[in-house]
Amino acid sequence: MENRIKSLIKKLSRLGFSVKPKNSDHVDPVCGMKVSSDLLKADYQGENYFFCSDHCKQQFEKDTETYILK
Ligand SMILES: [Zn+2]
Repeated sequence: MENRIKSLIKKLSRLGFSVKPKNSDHVDPVCGMKVSSDLLKADYQGENYFFCSDHCKQQFEKDTETYILK
């Protein structure tokens, strides 16, 4: 079963279905994880930020400037 899945993935990547992140994915500014859901969202100075968990969102809100300065 696992081999079937592996060969399917190989076939798909040969056809151009790569595992690259989609443009619609967001990056959690706190932990750097990719976030594909927009349920946990914060607004800061007109920018939207998305989070993987409520914990990261709280960190961001507590210490926003640390996370938006790059
Ligand atoms: Zn996170």
